[in-house]
Amino acid sequence: RATRTFHSLKPPLRLPPSHATVSAPSYVLSLRRNSPWSDSVTALIDSATGRHLSYADFIRRSETLAANLTSLFTLSKNDTALVLSPNLLHVPILHFALLSLGVVVSPVNPLATRSDLTRIIRLSKPTIAFATSSAANNLPYEFRHGTVLIDSPEFESLMTASRPGAKLEQVEVSQSDVAAILYSSGTTGNVKGVMLTHRNLIAMAGVYDVVRPQREKPAVFLYTVPFFHVFGFTLSLRAVVLLETVVLMERFGLRRMMEAIERFRVTHMAAVPSIMVAMMKDDLTAAYDLRSLECVSCGGAPLGKDTAAAFKTKFPKVLILQGYGLTESTAGVARTTNPEEASRSRTTGKLVSGVEAKIVNPDTGEPMFPGDQGELWLRGPSIMKGYVGDAEATLASLVDGWLRTGDLCYFDEEGFLYVVDRLKELIKYKGYQVAPAELEQVLHSHPEISDAAVIPYPDEEAGQVPMAFVVRKPQSSLGEAEIIEFVAKQVAPYKKIRRVTFVDSIPKNAVGKILRKDLNKIALERYISRL
Ligand code: AMP
Repeated sequence: RATRTFHSLKPPLRLPPSHATVSAPSYVLSLRRNSPWSDSVTALIDSATGRHLSYADFIRRSETLAANLTSLFTLSKNDTALVLSPNLLHVPILHFALLSLGVVVSPVNPLATRSDLTRIIRLSKPTIAFATSSAANNLPYEFRHGTVLIDSPEFESLMTASRPGAKLEQVEVSQSDVAAILYSSGTTGNVKGVMLTHRNLIAMAGVYDVVRPQREKPAVFLYTVPFFHVFGFTLSLRAVVLLETVVLMERFGLRRMMEAIERFRVTHMAAVPSIMVAMMKDDLTAAYDLRSLECVSCGGAPLGKDTAAAFKTKFPKVLILQGYGLTESTAGVARTTNPEEASRSRTTGKLVSGVEAKIVNPDTGEPMFPGDQGELWLRGPSIMKGYVGDAEATLASLVDGWLRTGDLCYFDEEGFLYVVDRLKELIKYKGYQVAPAELEQVLHSHPEISDAAVIPYPDEEAGQVPMAFVVRKPQSSLGEAEIIEFVAKQVAPYKKIRRVTFVDSIPKNAVGKILRKDLNKIALERYISRL
């Protein structure tokens, strides 16, 4: 067997030469011409108010805003703009306008704490902020160009009325220029600012251009993922490439989501697995007409085989597509794109156009073969430039152009990628590796469990044992022993859950990923109190 690098088996990317001066938004706008529709397609719908804009409106507004921002603040390529907002209609317009001016866009969770914001600001050194009124209260500093309130009437007029003398200057943007700084989820460590270039965004958009779904009407895509996370950030660019209608939710809620699907005849949804679990488990879904729904694109965390199967039983006509990616890879590097690929259990699909991968033995650093599990390394035009203000972390993550993902994965002989778990989150029981994701999926399959998370608990004899945090359904009196037995029947003996704690909810971040560091803290406190 020869040493392997895995190449994408999808059509090659058609990218501009890397030295061409073209910004991500102008490239993305040019790709929309490859779609069969015109700019009269609805671009954005606010699900709470029903307010909507066509692509023609979207483009006009982002151009007017760009011109007005230049005349007001003389923003340039040397500026970084923080954007603190939930998913409002204005946000994609603002991102587009800033990117077209070459300004570095840095979207942040509007609920970020002051100490998170202090760290973020120290890293990315913004010169201006765009924030909702409530998020603006939390900003610890004044910026050189101040803070613009994006939920104010003044902002509305910045998008709709040209200021006297304002005109859209042609800005020269190199593809190697940083376009955006996104903060990686930080569920396990310190927040890091991921620098994505215009080239990274162009490559990501190109992936959607070369594998275009054939449709009779534009897709109506409901986003449950925020624009400040790479999943939502890149989807909003994809929407322009494919001229999709995007339905926004300012605040997530299962009922709100159902209402939006029914009211706007949503055909596609972007979701993380916890939303699929909620849809699969909750009876609320029966009260709504969800027949328009054709497809759910799921990513961001492992989707359990049983969750996918139960979802399919409840919604047989809905295609579940999976995608795998990181902030550092400008989102999706592997995805399933059609019913045949989707029918294969557990895989997150094949590498997207332009991406290469290796599976590296974490102990020896040697590249491995199909079927072998090791750390996934990635290379290609969508891999980040580095972490802003953190040369050490950049050096540790980027090795000769390869991104170390920290994920334990394998490929099969046909080039399908399987994600086992985060390497750092693996539990070491007597030297054996136990993947929390696998045990969480078994727990989710229990009808009386509404949510669960598994983490390592210190143990003198075994090193670590798997400990489960379980949220029971209302009225359930399920006990610790029953849960331990339920899981033990389905997994290898060394993977058994050996401790259970009941909780009211599992702490999660804004995109629904389990906040393992919070659970580890609880477990450690318990452990110490018992010593
Ligand atoms: P983030 O940078 O917040 O998008 O987190 C990226 C991490 O999410 C990856 O390194 C994986 O650990 C995890 N992840 C993303 N997509 C998937 C998926 N489809 N299956 C399993 N894990 C995933």
